[in-house]
Amino acid sequence: MTAQIIDGKETAKALRQSIAGEVAKIKETVGVTPGLAVVLVGADPASEVYVKNKAKQTVEVGMTSFEHRLPEETTESDLLSLIDQLNNDTSVHGILVQLPVPKHIDERKVISAIDPAKDVDGFHPINAGRLATGQKALVPCTPVGCVILAKQAQADLTGLNAVVIGRSNIVGKPVAQLLLQENCTVTIAHSRTQNLPEIVRQADLVVAAAGQCEIVKGDWIKPGAIVIDVGIHRTVNDLGKTKLKGDVAFDEAVETAGHITPVPGGVGPMTIACLLRNSVVACARLNGLPDPVL
Ligand code: NDP
Repeated sequence: MTAQIIDGKETAKALRQSIAGEVAKIKETVGVTPGLAVVLVGADPASEVYVKNKAKQTVEVGMTSFEHRLPEETTESDLLSLIDQLNNDTSVHGILVQLPVPKHIDERKVISAIDPAKDVDGFHPINAGRLATGQKALVPCTPVGCVILAKQAQADLTGLNAVVIGRSNIVGKPVAQLLLQENCTVTIAHSRTQNLPEIVRQADLVVAAAGQCEIVKGDWIKPGAIVIDVGIHRTVNDLGKTKLKGDVAFDEAVETAGHITPVPGGVGPMTIACLLRNSVVACARLNGLPDPVL
């Protein structure tokens, strides 16, 4: 069997089009333009690229982008003051502090300082708690993207055995929560899990977010399973050519899976689209409007 490829690029494009429509509706209804503020501390080249892409796509869907670039030596209290200012700025509906922040700044303090209603990364403990208790929340972007892609393969995930590899607060745990909400039977695996291949072989749906290049082999995949690969690894071959790879050995897994996301072009493009989605949702809620259907 050769798996069907779940196209993250096209799915993200369609989502951005719907978001643009919702942005226009909010402008028309309440005269407000959704605004997303992104804060970058320091000059990490990878973070620079992410921030630039976020700003570009924010503007493309008709939202306002506010960029705050602070020097590496910014103090924690200066960063917290900026967050306070953004919390109180009515033209800002979403706040994202690009992680990681420099080591002298306490990441948890920064996340907790963001108004949960504007926490479009969904990392604030209040949003994590709301998600875990099935309440209205802002949900981390990559996990939302994973579930949207899984539902491209099968619209109703009810009853599937789902195995999530990874238990981080930003990917593994929220993906597992979302899959529970979709009525999957969820197993969360991590670095201390025994017999990982055997566990994955039981899965109708695998979400690989271990951060280990090609850890999931083709013979771990149950025939016909849905495979969502979150990992991103930059590898260089013998000829010095760079290639992006995932947590799944794609060339092997594609022979057994029913549906699979590629790397690149799978989960990656969904993350920013879901950030824009959260920003529009946050803006609607802050203006007393019903949640946009996205
Ligand atoms: P973390 O390093 O925070 O978490 C990795 C998780 O995987 C941990 O829970 C860890 O277990 C588990 N793990 C590590 N090794 C193994 C193993 N051998 N077997 C089973 N589980 C293992 O990573 P993130 O959650 O932040 O990210 C995961 C991957 O997703 C990375 O490759 C990252 O680059 C990518 N990513 C991609 C995004 C996108 O937009 N496409 C966005 C975010 C992340 P333990 O808890 O025991 O240490």
